[in-house]
Amino acid sequence: MQKYDVVIVGAGCSGIFTALEIVKNSNLKVLMIEKGNSIKKRVCPKRTTGKCMNCNPCNITTGFSGAGAFSDGKLTLSPDVGGNLKNYLGYEKTQELIDYVDSVYLSFGADDKIYGNDHIDKIKEIEVEAIKNNLKLIVYPLRHLGTDQSYEIYSKIEEYLKEKGVDFKFRTMVEDLIIENNVVKGVKTKDETIKAKYVVLSVGREGSEWLRNICHNHNIEAIPSVVDIGVRVEVRNEVMENINKYLYEGKFIYNSKTFDDTVRTFCQNPSGEVVIERYEDNLITVNGHSYKDSKTNNTNLALLVSKTFTQPFKDSIGYAKSIAKLANMLADGKVLVQRYGDLKRGRRTTEERLMRGNIVPTLKDAVPGDLSLVLPYRIIKSIEEMIEALNGVAPGFNSAETLLYGVECKFYNNKVIVDSNFQTNLKNLYALGDGAGITRGIIQSNSNGVYVGRHIVEEEK
Ligand SMILES: Cc1cc2nc3c(=O)[nH]c(=O)nc-3n(C[C@H](O)[C@H](O)[C@H](O)COP(=O)(O)OP(=O)(O)OC[C@H]3O[C@@H](n4cnc5c(N)ncnc54)[C@H](O)[C@@H]3O)c2cc1C
Repeated sequence: MQKYDVVIVGAGCSGIFTALEIVKNSNLKVLMIEKGNSIKKRVCPKRTTGKCMNCNPCNITTGFSGAGAFSDGKLTLSPDVGGNLKNYLGYEKTQELIDYVDSVYLSFGADDKIYGNDHIDKIKEIEVEAIKNNLKLIVYPLRHLGTDQSYEIYSKIEEYLKEKGVDFKFRTMVEDLIIENNVVKGVKTKDETIKAKYVVLSVGREGSEWLRNICHNHNIEAIPSVVDIGVRVEVRNEVMENINKYLYEGKFIYNSKTFDDTVRTFCQNPSGEVVIERYEDNLITVNGHSYKDSKTNNTNLALLVSKTFTQPFKDSIGYAKSIAKLANMLADGKVLVQRYGDLKRGRRTTEERLMRGNIVPTLKDAVPGDLSLVLPYRIIKSIEEMIEALNGVAPGFNSAETLLYGVECKFYNNKVIVDSNFQTNLKNLYALGDGAGITRGIIQSNSNGVYVGRHIVEEEK
């Protein structure tokens, strides 16, 4: 039977920074088990063919560096954005970790430009318009890697970890944990049992349902949390010109008048592309990214409505998945797209209507249809209000030709209860990153990984 000091389940953004920190500061023997491919084998056929080929597992969401590899690589350098780490570690410690992670990216070749720190007068003008339209603008420093640079940097990190002696098992799914007397002792895959003193669960949103079941089966404390449901909006770059230029990404928050729900913008991609995310059981949702060197005429961003459920309902992942499945059903296994004007007029979008405007959809195989048959009224209403409010900051945002792709969901609802070192109620078992409901973005998930890596090294001293 194989034996390691540390087994890291999921070689995504949080897991790889746990490994980096351990190999930098100790001789502990580390194994990373990842259900997707090594980075070199992560090829999404859609990038060349324009069509999703239903790879299993999906190369966009699984493999070395997880959801980070083909992300837009926006490093949000503030504890206020991309997760709840500050609730566990405090603001200063979180900022310290973020700055450290940023320096690691720079050492692996990240671009040194930072958005959000200059053009203060222009940013103030955007903020004033936001206030007038009942929106709250969150300003923070942001480094943009782009999908191409992210891929290069993560390739170098994979090489570095291998040189430092980290072992990898790719295309291997961890199925279960070995637990004895409330202490974790290792993991089980389909073919083998691997013993380890420490097990780190860094499974991302891709593994959040798996983690929820693991928690349920082994009495690991977890609670249902918020779920985000919405659409990805695509407009011409001209509409978002000032926000793209001075902020790169505008983080706006709105509380809807009708339902008092919180709606937020998320993951803005200037000159970017709308992409699909494929989950187990062929569930498809939508996302976006952009390349540093290859530009489109469109900007995309998500509008997400946050929902928290109260007793007796606990399955918010199931709720969001049911909505996504409905969209897939109506779009024949694909993503739906509707013009905002058609949604408001209560009619479906057709191929002919889609072709009328200035916007050429970047997600080529999206199917024109009717999102009002998919999204609950409460969510549609909140999104409509948000679009109208954003029109005050970015005139043209509420144009009839604005495209809404559906649906976008964030399945980070299973919140694992951890102590201040991210250890679960089972000894030596850690849970971190998006899958544990702690983070929501690259830099905070990396920072979470660094913290856990350092803690394991300290425990061994
Ligand atoms: C298209 C896209 C664009 C994005 N753009 C940005 C951005 O610009 N900026 C930003 O801050 N964030 C962005 N994000 C979000 C960001 O990528 C995530 O927040 C981050 O990757 C979370 O890190 P993680 O380690 O928690 O999970 P992940 O990086 O998702 O890694 C989890 C890994 O665990 C593996 N796994 C799951 N279950 C198992 C199992 N049972 N056994 C073995 N392996 C398993 C998965 O295959 C995956 O590789 C984007 C996400 C997507 C999908």
